[in-house]
Order: sequence, then C-alpha cells, then structure tokens
Amino acid sequence: MSRVAYVNGLYVPHADAGVHVEDRGYQFGDGVYEVCEVRGGRMVDERRHMERLVRSLGELRIRLPMPLHALGVVLRETVRRNRVRDGFVYLQVTRGVARRDHYFPVPEVPPAIVVTARRVDPAKNEALAAEGVSVITVPENRWDRVDIKTVGLLPNVLAKQAARAAGAREAWFVDADGHVTEGGSTNAWIVTKDGVLRTRPAEHGILRGITRTVMFEVAEQLQLRIEERAFTVAEALAAREAFLSSATTIAMPVVRIDGQPIGEGKPGPVVARLRALFHSVAEIAR
Ligand code: PLP
Repeated sequence: MSRVAYVNGLYVPHADAGVHVEDRGYQFGDGVYEVCEVRGGRMVDERRHMERLVRSLGELRIRLPMPLHALGVVLRETVRRNRVRDGFVYLQVTRGVARRDHYFPVPEVPPAIVVTARRVDPAKNEALAAEGVSVITVPENRWDRVDIKTVGLLPNVLAKQAARAAGAREAWFVDADGHVTEGGSTNAWIVTKDGVLRTRPAEHGILRGITRTVMFEVAEQLQLRIEERAFTVAEALAAREAFLSSATTIAMPVVRIDGQPIGEGKPGPVVARLRALFHSVAEIAR
C-alpha cells in the first residue's frame, strides 16, 4: 500500500511529496507542528492538539491555514487514505513560501501545510513499556520558548541522537539549577517514595504536553496525588518510579538514568496503571 501526504491542498504520493526550496520552515524552522495519536482509526485528543496548534501559531503570528473544522477533515482524510488504524498523524504549518529574508514576508503569503500519517505496531510499544526505557541526561541548551511547538528541533535532535549512541531511548534536559526540564520529545515524571506524581510546572521551560495534561485527569481517577514541581536527577534516582509521556509513547516507564537503575530497574505499578487507564480518559472522537 502506498502512502499519501497532504501538501498545500493536494493529496500526493508520499514519495513525490515535497515543499518549495524557499518554504520558511525549510529555511528558518519558521513553523509549528502537532503529532496526534491514532487509535482504532480515530484521533486521540484532537481538540486539545488543535487548541495547542492555535496557540503555537498565535505566538509566532502565523495564520491558521484553514478553519479548524476543515483541518480536522484533512487530518481524518490523511489517516483514512493511509489506512492507519494505529499510529499517528503529523501536521506542520509554516509561515509560507517567500524570497529568503528573515523579516516576515510583505505582502503576507499563505501559510504552508503538510500532513502525513504513519502506522505504528501497538505491540511494539507495549513490549517497550513492559521492559521500560533508559534515558541519559544532557545540559539544557534550548531557547527560552520551548512552550511553542516549533519545528526548530536541532537541540532535541542532537540530544536524542546522543541518547541513541549511549544505548538509551530518550535524553532528559537538565537546567542550570540541576532540575530536569523534559525529554527531547517527551515530558518527564517521577513517582516519589510517598507515591506522589511529580512533574515540572508547564508555565515555563517545557512544552505543555497534551498527554501530560490528560495524565492529570487519569491520576485523579486513580486518586493519585500530583505535584507540579521540578525534580533533580538525584531525586529521580531516589524515586520509586519514573516515566515519560507523549502522544506516541503515552506513559512509558523509565528504568535507568545515565546507566543507574531507578528502584529495582524494572517498570513499576503506578505507571502501568496510568498507562492502562489513559485511553478511557482521553478524548477519542467517534
Ligand atoms: N516535550 C517535547 C519537547 C515534545 O516534543 C513532546 C512531543 O512531541 C512532548 C513534550 C509531549 O507532548 P505531547 O504529549 O503533546 O505529545
């Protein structure tokens, strides 16, 4: 089955899907994106992802390329055409195509949009969750506006590549005060010795993950206490459990940090319960 991408108004074969050389996303990283999980052919938490997209675009003063309901149609159609039952849909919007010049184009150009969808084998993720993953720590070196989901991800790329080179799955950024901010593509959590879920506040220094937001509701249903307070690497190592969260991983146990085990170096019960309950709390449209 051949894959299909949506590019600026057209559904095209994935192999031929390209953007203009002067797309500002390509030249400046001047664009934003969203990744939404697809489960049983349906998008998970579409409403929240669209809300965050609108916020990211607003922060960068990029126009929404089409009304949200039309965007929803394109996302669903891309999922359908790629026959994705389980996987994710990727949406990218850039400031558009214009002669290369740092200033915003004058006159304004239409934003450029790309949508792709990809299958993921759910069994692989489950197998990973059963084993748990390793993370390494790296110094925080990103800009101050990581709350915006921009396609400018070079520090994240380098951090995750360093993780892979070290045999780990994710890299946790650690700020100048020694606190973990978040992962290269995930939010970071611990379960303290007292059984409290702890994650950094999302006001500054991290992306407000949609999975993170939903996890608060999941925790409430499980009657778990959550504390929005940054933690150090030492606190994570002393924790009962640790995990990471994102639309593509949901709650994924972290069993080692920089080669040192957390607890017994095995996935714990709290993350398993959060993971098991997640999709009955998330919004999945019919
Ligand atoms: N933090 C970063 C840097 C990310 O790139 C992502 C997802 O891509 C997340 C956190 C998790 O966000 P979400 O739960 O919305 O997928």
